[in-house]
Amino acid sequence: MSFSARVKEELLRIRPEKHCCMLSELSALTQTCASLRLSGGGRVRVVYEVENAPLAKRIFLLLKKRMEITPVLEFNRHKRLGGRRLAVLTVSEGDSRRLLIALRMIQESDAGMIYKGVPRAAMTRRCCRAAFLRAAFLGAGAMSEPEKGYHLEFTSSEARADTLLKILEKSGIEGHVVKRREADVVYLKKGDDVVSCLALMGAHAALLEMENIRIRRDGRNQANRARNCDEANLKKQLSAGEKQAKAIVAYSLAHSLAALPRELQEIGRLRMLHPEASLEELGQMLPQPIGKSGVNHRMRRLMALIESDERKGE
Ligand SMILES: [Zn+2]
Repeated sequence: MSFSARVKEELLRIRPEKHCCMLSELSALTQTCASLRLSGGGRVRVVYEVENAPLAKRIFLLLKKRMEITPVLEFNRHKRLGGRRLAVLTVSEGDSRRLLIALRMIQESDAGMIYKGVPRAAMTRRCCRAAFLRAAFLGAGAMSEPEKGYHLEFTSSEARADTLLKILEKSGIEGHVVKRREADVVYLKKGDDVVSCLALMGAHAALLEMENIRIRRDGRNQANRARNCDEANLKKQLSAGEKQAKAIVAYSLAHSLAALPRELQEIGRLRMLHPEASLEELGQMLPQPIGKSGVNHRMRRLMALIESDERKGE
């Protein structure tokens, strides 16, 4: 299981108890996992689609407990996801309106006007900021394996990127934004910021694991600088995917991937997040899936670019 998946598993075990925090979680989950289906005359339905069954259960329970809403739950097989099962939770029109008003996503006077706010407490209270970030990570978060670099990100819409940045800033965490296709990605790149974010979200087991890795890794870097032979041997044992991920992380820390052609950025980011994946699997994760040879071609271009950059640096 990837580090990212372990963090999510840990976060799913935290049950929000307070009314304010439940609303903050619902806000983040609605903004990351739901689409608003408009059907004229100001009518709207909120539809959540999630792959992770425990997350679907969490949304179901939050709606029920906090809003007294019982959504219709169905399971679909999704073509785009290679036939994987998708949980779909549909909220009725009347309940959707009530929910969106509570979440400050529409204005009461005009249901047709959608405005992307968040509940006030999500900004002002620490407990609610934690709940919002936790749910945003569950809905749209990912992080790299700490052995390979410190990177945690939330995929976001433009409006939400702003909210996320503010919530992070208020919590003393430095976030950055990069455009990826139509989405904005809010990411943390400093080890300290990633650790603070894990602490705030309540992922304490993941935090301890990451701190241990940091101690080892930083020690290893020193050894590396001293041209330690053990490090060289260790490197040889890394798989091709891990080597690529490591090189891409180092490159992105020095230059950011944003300046690269989009197709290289995409493949680079996927490789950072999935060092274990085969080229074929990476190809299937792209917004527009491509085959193995296409991925191979892009990866070669990217690695050639990174290697020429490394040579410049020497
Ligand atoms: Zn709260």
